[in-house]
Amino acid sequence: MAVSGEAFAQARYASDAAACEALCRAANATIVLAPGSSRFTRVAAGVAHRLSGYIDTHITALGGANTIEASRWFYRQRIEAVISRDLRPWFLLLDAGTHAAFAGASSAAKIEEVPVQLPALRTTVSGFRAPQQDQQTIRPDAKMLLVAGAGWTKKQPDGQIHVAEAAKLILGFLHVTGASLGSSKSLVDQGGEGEPVLPFLTHMNQIGQTGATPRHAKGLSTCCHGEEPHVVGWRFIADRRAISLDPNCGWTRGKADVVYVADAFPVMAKVNALLEAAKA
Ligand SMILES: Cc1cc2nc3c(=O)[nH]c(=O)nc-3n(C[C@H](O)[C@H](O)[C@H](O)COP(=O)(O)OP(=O)(O)OC[C@H]3O[C@@H](n4cnc5c(N)ncnc54)[C@H](O)[C@@H]3O)c2cc1C
Repeated sequence: MAVSGEAFAQARYASDAAACEALCRAANATIVLAPGSSRFTRVAAGVAHRLSGYIDTHITALGGANTIEASRWFYRQRIEAVISRDLRPWFLLLDAGTHAAFAGASSAAKIEEVPVQLPALRTTVSGFRAPQQDQQTIRPDAKMLLVAGAGWTKKQPDGQIHVAEAAKLILGFLHVTGASLGSSKSLVDQGGEGEPVLPFLTHMNQIGQTGATPRHAKGLSTCCHGEEPHVVGWRFIADRRAISLDPNCGWTRGKADVVYVADAFPVMAKVNALLEAAKA
């Protein structure tokens, strides 16, 4: 079943919600699975309400034999809950990165067009105003996470700080790899303490106990000590590497698969150069 038409080309609450409602009603849906993308997250709760249903978001796994059991994490990923409900329709928004992409062969589908009664549309989509790729540093769908720690803005062996060079190296890596940028708490806190900051970092980038717990396949930590409150945010990152000057940092104590005890400035400059060359 599908809806189509110009009104649905752009994400807009009124038309998206009307379309989802029409599809659910036409299918008599009892269980509604949707990706936890920004477009569905915006409308799914409203649609569930219209259908007198219930919604659970951030679902990471589905199971159960005679009934459906949906898993999600609470309290900064420390408690995993398994939820089942009798109420229908039950809407479940699945988090990105928790399931393998469909790998079967494609085949032709017979599409049943579902008519939609659109309400008065008061919102006109006039275009996109999106940050440049280098400005939008949080990319949940990226394969790799680059973490910047406070070391990038600390005095280096020459007695100087090199914030501009640090910014260039970090953004250079993001630009060539499309990686997402995470940070330690110390680095994002520095702005409020009047110390040198990297302008593209905010608390939204913070990884850890009081920050985010992203789900990228790989992570590279740079100039970060790898203390426990930070590393708990790496819970779902399987392949971990770190570049740190300190041979006794947390990463070397079993928290990373590979640790390069080295100065991240020349290492990242070389990595970026190799990546640029490979891309060219
Ligand atoms: C209740 C609580 C909650 C917390 N929550 C979080 C959280 O959510 N996230 C979080 O990140 N932290 C959290 N913290 C803070 C955490 O304990 C650490 O203080 C913080 O992670 C340290 O950040 P950092 O490693 O970037 O900085 P630092 O400890 O200053 O380490 C900088 C590192 O950079 C290295 N370095 C310097 N220059 C270079 C170079 N040129 N090349 C390579 N390495 C270099 C240094 O050797 C050092 O190891 C929390 C703390 C508490 C008490």
